[in-house]
Amino acid sequence: MSDHSNRWAAPTTSAAGPMAPLDRRRFLARTAAAVAAATLGNAVCAAATAPYVFAHGVFEITLLSDGHFVLPPPNTPADVGFLYPDTPRPELEAFLRAAGLSIERVQLPNNVVLIRTASDLVLVDAGAGSGWQPTAGKLVENLQAAGIDPASVTKVVFTHAHPDHLWGVADDGGALRFPNAAYFVAEQEWNFWMAQDTVTKLPESFRRFALGARRDLSRIKDRLKTVKAGDDIIGGVRIVDTSGHTPGHISLELAGGDGLMVVGDVIANAAVSFAHPEWRFAIDTVPELAIASRRRLLDRAVAEKTRLIGSHWPYPGLGMAERSGSAYRFVATS
Ligand SMILES: [Zn+2]
Repeated sequence: MSDHSNRWAAPTTSAAGPMAPLDRRRFLARTAAAVAAATLGNAVCAAATAPYVFAHGVFEITLLSDGHFVLPPPNTPADVGFLYPDTPRPELEAFLRAAGLSIERVQLPNNVVLIRTASDLVLVDAGAGSGWQPTAGKLVENLQAAGIDPASVTKVVFTHAHPDHLWGVADDGGALRFPNAAYFVAEQEWNFWMAQDTVTKLPESFRRFALGARRDLSRIKDRLKTVKAGDDIIGGVRIVDTSGHTPGHISLELAGGDGLMVVGDVIANAAVSFAHPEWRFAIDTVPELAIASRRRLLDRAVAEKTRLIGSHWPYPGLGMAERSGSAYRFVATS
C-alpha cells in the first residue's frame, strides 16, 4: 500500500467538526440500539454485553466484548509465574497481591474495536472464535445483539495472529464470519506464521498458536493484503509498528483531535504491563523488542496524552497512560 499522507491529514482538519450531522444521527441511533440491546440482553441472554460507542474525529468507534479468557489456560498449572518467568517469585507475588490479582490465573477481557465511517466498517481483530476458551468467542453474538450484521464489515485488520485475535475469523465449518471483508495483516506477521519452520521452532506450548495461525491465515489468503508501518487502512487509520509481542504486531493510530490508538497486546495487562513494562512476558515472541515497543508506546501516550484501546484491559478497554514513579499506570476513561 502506498503512503496516503494527504488522506491522513484530511480527517484531522475536517470543517464538519467532530462528527457530521448524518453521522451524529446514526451515532445516536446506534447508542439507542446499544441500550436496547443491553436491555434485551439482560432479558434474553445474560452473555450479551452492550457495546461502548463514542465519536472520535470523523469516526464512530464501537468497543465490543468477545468475552474473556484466562492465562495460563485452563488445564495447565495454575501459576501466573509462568507469564513472568524472569521476575523473582516474592516480587511477583507481592505485586499481584497488592493489585488484588490472583497468583494462580489472570482473567483477561477480550475487547474488539469497530471503526465506522461513511463508507467503511473496519473491525480490528476478529475475536477468539470457538476454539480458544469457552468463555471467549462472543464477538458475533454481541455484534448481532447491537444490530450490526457481520456481513456489513468491509475490512478486518489484525493487530497480530494470536488465537484470541484471529481464530474468530471463521466458524467451526471454516466459513468466514465476515464474508464480505478485505483482510489486513502485517507483512512480517504473515511471513512469521506462514514460514514452514515456525511450528517446530516454537516451544511446545505455542505450537497450537502456530497451527491455528496457519489455518486461519490460509482461509483468508485470497482476500488478504499485507501491510507495514505507515500504511493507511482507510483515510485517517494508520499502521504503527509495535512489534515484539509477535514479530509483526501492529497498532493503529486514528486521526482526530485528542489522539487515539488501538494498541492490541503491546501493553497486555492493565495492572502489570503499565507498572512493569520491563518484565519479560512469556507470551511475547521477541521479548526484548516487545519491551522496547511497550516503553516507546507508553512514553508517547503520556507525552501526547493519547487515548488508548487495549485488547485485554477492563472492558471496554479505553484509557490513558499516566506516569507513576519510574513507570506508568492505566487510567480508564470510559
Ligand atoms: Zn491477546
